[in-house]
Amino acid sequence: MKRYALVAALAIAAYQLIPSGGWWESGWQVAIGYLGVAGILAGARRLPRRERLPWWCFAFGLAANVTGIPVSIYAIDVLGIDSLPGPADPMFLLLYPACGLGMAILIRRREPRHNWTALVDAATITTGFGLLAWVYVIKPVAVGQDIDMLGRAVQAAYPIGDLLLLAMLTRLLRGGGPRGPAFWWIAGSLIAFLVGDLAWVVIGDLGSTGVALEDTQWVHRCIDMVFLVAYTLFGIGALHGDAREVGSVAPRQPARLGRGLLVLLAAASLIAPGLLMVQLAQGQVRDGWAIAICCTVLFLLVVVRMAQLVREIERQAATVRDLARRDELTGLPNRRVWNEELPRALELARRDRSPMSVALLDLDHFKIFNDTYGHPAGDRLLKEASAAWHGALRAVDLLARYGGEEFVVLLPDVSEDGARQIVERVLAATPQGQTFSAGIAVWDGSETPEELVTRADAALYESKAGGRNRVTVAPPVDSRPEMSHPAA
Ligand code: GH3
Ligand code: MG
Ligand code: MG
Repeated sequence: MKRYALVAALAIAAYQLIPSGGWWESGWQVAIGYLGVAGILAGARRLPRRERLPWWCFAFGLAANVTGIPVSIYAIDVLGIDSLPGPADPMFLLLYPACGLGMAILIRRREPRHNWTALVDAATITTGFGLLAWVYVIKPVAVGQDIDMLGRAVQAAYPIGDLLLLAMLTRLLRGGGPRGPAFWWIAGSLIAFLVGDLAWVVIGDLGSTGVALEDTQWVHRCIDMVFLVAYTLFGIGALHGDAREVGSVAPRQPARLGRGLLVLLAAASLIAPGLLMVQLAQGQVRDGWAIAICCTVLFLLVVVRMAQLVREIERQAATVRDLARRDELTGLPNRRVWNEELPRALELARRDRSPMSVALLDLDHFKIFNDTYGHPAGDRLLKEASAAWHGALRAVDLLARYGGEEFVVLLPDVSEDGARQIVERVLAATPQGQTFSAGIAVWDGSETPEELVTRADAALYESKAGGRNRVTVAPPVDSRPEMSHPAA
């Protein structure tokens, strides 16, 4: 790859020094072009068979484009055909669909899922620049009188081909996927093709305003060199060691909107109103319809883009909400949920005049379990136990992880006996022969959530002190402090 890059770079530099006219000049170009094609084919050979297709597309497009050079010279110098379109035009033009197809395949491989935001961005940029292309290049060609219909169509096909490349390139750059050196060499090559075409357009326009750069030899050669660089960069990209990465699948990434992209999108969206202002200042709006249509399309694209972003934010907000409320290990609601739900449940019980109980569970000798079987086994027990307990509870009960190996249960519609029954059922469901101690407090109808939990905690302490593996109900508020409800 390095040797190839060096040879090509020297050849491109030497191009400025080649004697002008005749076969030397074009022969040199063709040699460098075919060197690029050979580079792509050699690079493709190194890839697994089913990854070669996009590279063959590129090689075909470049080869056709390069072949156009001798064909056009032969047609003009030998056959004397100087009409438009010439026999070389189809060859030059093949570059666009072939490269477009290759890029479409690459994009598909890099992102098997549709990436709608990247598509909208590419459409926005292409629409904005498409308007410029229409007003300054395509329309003048299309309404030009000096050549026939086919000639005009062929001339218009070049800027349209450029727009196609621009669309695919922005889509490729906006999409996800690995971006190694090979990726950037190829992107650089495509940008060089676009710059070269743009340079021709600008120089042609200058020519029509009287600045005849078109015939200046070194300018001509500089533009030729841009294309030679484009051929070469493609070859370098294909030969690069990480060329394989260019076609490999991207990890799914969240949509990002960097400052550069934002500026580019804004600029593309402002092209249409900007052009309108220019024409208003010139005293005549010549492209009113084109501008109006582009403005409409751009507005719609911006609205779609906004909707995509808002939806993405909503999706992420839902994820964050879920993460903030769920205990990672057990999947149970966490303490935050508990702190929200308990006051709400008490308020509901107050209104319905229904009883409400809470229970605090704490695994017995869990430290010993951890020390004996290891921390991961302790984690597994926590998971299994939560699932088993959840299964033993009623659908209306709320089981939450309070912290460590402590859990809380909200038991609506039950008081002392009912709550004890349920919690004993839960205790019996504890897996791996393990047990817990529990404290239950029945809400007295007026105490705060904190006071209620404190009473349950005191009852839990009683259970631990009484020998563990049992359920204690806290005495009613007015009969404190004599706690004496040990379980069987
Ligand atoms: P007691 O019967 O008095 O409750 O004894 P205990 O060993 O269960 O209580 P202690 O509070 O002394 O120890 C609790 C242990 O729980 C200590 C801590 O390492 C362990 N633990 C807390 N959270 C986790 C966890 O998420 N995973 C695991 N594996 N262990 C945890
Ligand atoms: Mg504990
Ligand atoms: Mg414990």
